[in-house]
Amino acid sequence: MINANANDIMWQIRLREFLANENNGVGAQGAQGARRARGAQGVQGALSTPSAQFATSMGIFGTAEFLARPCRLDEAVAIFRLRSSEWFPLYIIGGGTNVLPASGVIDGLVLSSERLDSLVWRVEGDALVLVAGAGCPLSSVVSTCAALGFTGAEFALGIPGTVGGAVAGNAGALGASIGDVVEEITSVEPDGSVARRREGFECSYRFCSLASPDRLLASVVMRFRRAVPGEIEEKTETFRRAREKQPRERSAGCAFKNPPSDAAGRLLDSCGCKGLRVGDAAVSDVHANFIVNRGAATGEDVAALMGLCRDRVFRRTGVLLEPEVKFIGFGSAEAWARAITTASMPAETRGLI
Ligand SMILES: Cc1cc2nc3c(=O)[nH]c(=O)nc-3n(C[C@H](O)[C@H](O)[C@H](O)COP(=O)(O)OP(=O)(O)OC[C@H]3O[C@@H](n4cnc5c(N)ncnc54)[C@H](O)[C@@H]3O)c2cc1C
Repeated sequence: MINANANDIMWQIRLREFLANENNGVGAQGAQGARRARGAQGVQGALSTPSAQFATSMGIFGTAEFLARPCRLDEAVAIFRLRSSEWFPLYIIGGGTNVLPASGVIDGLVLSSERLDSLVWRVEGDALVLVAGAGCPLSSVVSTCAALGFTGAEFALGIPGTVGGAVAGNAGALGASIGDVVEEITSVEPDGSVARRREGFECSYRFCSLASPDRLLASVVMRFRRAVPGEIEEKTETFRRAREKQPRERSAGCAFKNPPSDAAGRLLDSCGCKGLRVGDAAVSDVHANFIVNRGAATGEDVAALMGLCRDRVFRRTGVLLEPEVKFIGFGSAEAWARAITTASMPAETRGLI
């Protein structure tokens, strides 16, 4: 997708050359056979082709103009260095379990951290120290801690996605979250430098102060405590029971964040949102804060339904819900919301507010 704008064309040409060049350290430079093959897969300049598609847990595919899946930190660094000299739109994704892509081709580069998936650990006295790459599945953290007899990861039972995505949104459940166990974060900064921080960042409800569209959270050090007998089983059971109240259909997790001192699901339910539908996107009958894909829902269907729910809750309670899912390719941060004012809503949804 080449735009008429001269600057757009310049970065597209430069990025395409960069991704095609095997001697820039991103592709296959200096590698042996197997490594070369892996590196070559790592970053693709796949222009509007099916291979530039990325999956989401919602079952909605995003199509990126360029899609990069770096396997090593230096590959990610090279992308950020190029971007600091030749600016282009950048979107970072992990497992795609909390993102909603717009239809059509997303301008710029989507960087998937899924292949930065290392996981190493050491035991320090009564503590387990895990060092996880951004793309390490959160489920591997849960299973590793349980297998080695350490507690603190049970909250993540059933939370899909990667460690990087979890830290970016401080994922959690029942008051516990990944921020409780994070000790150190290594990131690739906007200029391509690598920063390692043990302090100077904050995590609170679904928020991490280091999360930014311009910064890759590349790896994380987490610390867990040795469990007393029965502790892991008991906590696991608590979190497992909480999961049973959630739908099994395809979703992106909770659509909205909980407002202070209330639950988004309760508000949505009390405003009669369960069962509302736009296209194949529907508010789950099981939990009103989950929007599920009942067939071939598009990102726009989900955004329109979220707007409908948000407007309804606001008009009836005065509470303005904030999305928890992250929109990709909808333009500016709030463009999705502007796109779903009553006037532009699909005809069948008008009057439902
Ligand atoms: C069935 C289901 C249940 C869920 N339950 C919960 C729950 O109980 N609690 C909860 O908190 N969440 C829950 N979620 C939401 C989701 O799983 C979490 O938010 C998860 O941590 C997102 O990780 P991800 O790798 O999929 O991130 P993505 O969805 O790919 O990305 C989410 C955000 O993180 C950013 N990001 C991802 N990786 C990085 C990185 N390496 N560096 C910088 N930024 C990055 C992206 O830019 C994006 O803004 C649930 C989702 C589903 C589908």
